[in-house]
Amino acid sequence: MDATQVEDDLVEVLFTEKQIHDRLEELAQEITADYEGRDLLIVGILRGAAMVMVDLARALPRHLEMDWMAISSYGSGTKSSGVVRILKDLDTDISGRHVLIVDEIIDTGLTLSWLVNNLGTRNAASVEVCTLLRKPDALTMPVDPRYVGWDIPNEFVVGYGLDYRQQYRNLRDIATLAPHVYT
Ligand code: 5GP
Ligand code: MG
Repeated sequence: MDATQVEDDLVEVLFTEKQIHDRLEELAQEITADYEGRDLLIVGILRGAAMVMVDLARALPRHLEMDWMAISSYGSGTKSSGVVRILKDLDTDISGRHVLIVDEIIDTGLTLSWLVNNLGTRNAASVEVCTLLRKPDALTMPVDPRYVGWDIPNEFVVGYGLDYRQQYRNLRDIATLAPHVYT
């Protein structure tokens, strides 16, 4: 789905499909250099990070493994509930592995700081975070992503995996949602 097909629901396109893919190529180059000579397991956080995960994985010109986790921290609205639960755990034993968590957005950082701690108890060789987007509040939380696509203002965004009530994930671009949609 393109932004033009839901333009009444959107305020502004922040990043086009092309800009997103170009940025992922850059991050993939950094990751490739940093993990040279080491095995790599990338872990996508369902459902929001699905698009970032598959595009980043294909941008990486090296062998890697992919696994997925599902974590709930949000209700169905636009505010965090503060409660974190594992809905689907890894299928992979990560002891001794280099793990790169791939997420689409860090807002408060609550979900990811909890997850990094959780994976930190499983004897991984390393645990790092790659996020496509980061909001300003994240800077006050103890989560320090090694790879960040863009820092964005504190606005609710949808598209490229990011949903509002499970919709808009299939929007190719990332856009701010018009308030009339959620009020
Ligand atoms: P945090 O724990 O960092 O506050 O929340 C992270 C999760 O909240 C993200 O994985 C995402 O599911 C959701 N989230 C945070 N900000 C936004 C946003 O602007 N748009 C959408 N669609 N989801 C968001
Ligand atoms: Mg997420």
